[in-house]
Amino acid sequence: MATPHDEVLAAQEAHLRGLDDADERTIFDKIVAKEIPATILYEDALAMAFRDVNPQAKTHFLVIPKIRAGLTRLSKATEEHKTLLGHLMYTASVVAKQENLDAGYRCVINDGVEGCQSVYHLHVHVIGGQQLSWPPG
Ligand code: IMP
Repeated sequence: MATPHDEVLAAQEAHLRGLDDADERTIFDKIVAKEIPATILYEDALAMAFRDVNPQAKTHFLVIPKIRAGLTRLSKATEEHKTLLGHLMYTASVVAKQENLDAGYRCVINDGVEGCQSVYHLHVHVIGGQQLSWPPG
């Protein structure tokens, strides 16, 4: 029998299955379009990095694809996203250097409800600037 938790998950997943690029603009689309302000650290044709508005460490920035191209979340990745995903990880490393995170940092991608994803526009969190602990919750 489905528990209330299962029902919430199923409802969220059903919503996300119906979500594509044309349906809903995310807050990150608005940052890319410069419709809302952000502290942008890096930008090229494919990717953008900006500071997280609610930092979880001394340094916390997000790396996003400028065009979602179906990538609302990592679990939607297909073969055609491989180059873009590599570019996002490389961009994370370039901006981490720019931010002087020489002693190390962490990259995190939250996926879906159980992964605590809240913005359905794929993003890599880069967290550092201090000693981190492990494991996360
Ligand atoms: P998620 O929970 O992995 O989806 O991460 C979404 C992140 O986006 C959170 O860390 C939020 O603090 C961050 N965020 C939400 N809105 C904004 C914004 O307008 N500017 C910068 N970061 C944001």
